Amino acid sequence: MERGINFTERDISKDMDARRELMKRKVMGVPAFIIDDEVVVGLDMDKIESLLDYTVTPCSNCETKLRIPKDKGKIAVTCPKCENKFETTT
Ligand SMILES: [Zn+2]
Repeated sequence: MERGINFTERDISKDMDARRELMKRKVMGVPAFIIDDEVVVGLDMDKIESLLDYTVTPCSNCETKLRIPKDKGKIAVTCPKCENKFETTT
């Protein structure tokens, strides 16, 4: 099953509801993400990925960070940038 990432960008300088929501959750930094009930402050991609059942692995050729599903065992990955094919275990 594919799970997409849906999020709504809200400007707390204009959006009072969004600002109240963050204050209620005691979020002090922006940008912030709320995924289910977890709050991720700032662009902490590792945290976000971990909440979304994905992991990040670098391409073995060009080091581009690739997002791959977790807990799949050994999987074949094709880098979208350099088209390098390699196997990794998640
Ligand atoms: Zn690559």
